[in-house]
Amino acid sequence: MKEKTMVMIPGPTPVVRSIQDQMGREIQAFGDPRFVKDYKSVIDDLGQLFGCDGKTFVVAGTGTLAMEMALANTTKRGDNVLIVSNGFFGDRFTDICAHKGLNADVLQAEWGHVVSPAQIEAKLSEKQYSVVTVTHVDTATGAAADIAAIGEMMKKFPDTIYIVDGVAATAGEYENLAEMNIDLLFTASQKAFGVCPGLLLLWANKKAMARRATLGVIPEYYCDFDKWVPIMDDPSKYFATPAVNLVWALQESVRIIKEEGMKARYQRHLKNARAMQKALEALGFTLLAQPGCRAVTLSNLIYPAGVEDAKFRAALLEEGVIVAGGLAAYAGKMFRLGHMGNIDVNDEVAVLGVIERALNQCGHAVPYGKGVGVYLEEMEK
Ligand SMILES: *Cc1c(COP(=O)(O)O)cnc(C)c1O
Repeated sequence: MKEKTMVMIPGPTPVVRSIQDQMGREIQAFGDPRFVKDYKSVIDDLGQLFGCDGKTFVVAGTGTLAMEMALANTTKRGDNVLIVSNGFFGDRFTDICAHKGLNADVLQAEWGHVVSPAQIEAKLSEKQYSVVTVTHVDTATGAAADIAAIGEMMKKFPDTIYIVDGVAATAGEYENLAEMNIDLLFTASQKAFGVCPGLLLLWANKKAMARRATLGVIPEYYCDFDKWVPIMDDPSKYFATPAVNLVWALQESVRIIKEEGMKARYQRHLKNARAMQKALEALGFTLLAQPGCRAVTLSNLIYPAGVEDAKFRAALLEEGVIVAGGLAAYAGKMFRLGHMGNIDVNDEVAVLGVIERALNQCGHAVPYGKGVGVYLEEMEK
């Protein structure tokens, strides 16, 4: 195996040198005025970048904790929750609801498709839901929900909190709370932000914060908004020790994002994703996600006939590229390729070259350069 391994799974994603360097910095006290200033600037920048008129939270934990935090602060036991699932992570929301004594109804899309705003509207018209959760991009399927259209529809339901799970999307796909009428959005550091795992990022607008205020004391402690708001407003205060170096790493990631621009970053992801998808189709793969709902952050690729999953992925690993396997019914039939965050054209050329080699080793003959050629032609356009 190569010494250098490209981690092309749907998170963690490659961490660029300048972000790695922040992880290696000498520690500072969390009350050090220099760190307090850095922490505050990250929180403020993130609030602005994502159009949040309420509160932005940067807390040690993973995306799963953010899922729990979202529901903990917007619902109480016995509430109705509508879960819009386009794959695997909707099931996790269902499980969290069971633990919390919430009544969950699930709208499940066939894998590779997404639930439409009209289907959600019909369901919301049946009874009063406290919140609706939508997975923006589900890593199990590579399908992306139309969160802007759903947000527009949600204007008809002002008493329902609209929660978006952006964990495999945020900072790759375009998202903005104010523009898209999203009440609560969350992600984790290791996906399109291109930071090491360990931080959750959560945005709650004024409406979501007002809902929290109606709940009084909630059973959860660590993920209670009320515990964190004083710290997010003034990080010199203490609630629980901040992940100092991860905050710096995130600060560098945010600096890169600001320099690139949110919309330009999305356009880069879009162009790259469509070029990758066209190249991979040319090599014989079939995309699970249907045209019209394909994510820009990852692709889920069904093997051409005869290519064996374990052998293919072992061949990739041998050449220094790690991808993820398919889930559930697609285990052994598909692989999942992340292409989000701070990756560039040269990374993708390398990945496609390795895939071409692995296909040939697995008995699916492709001319060398075929996928790379299609990709580069698309990128030149
Ligand atoms: C990765 C992921 C999560 C879970 O995040 P963890 O950091 O692994 O806890 C939740 N939702 C989606 C859509 C994801 O892709």
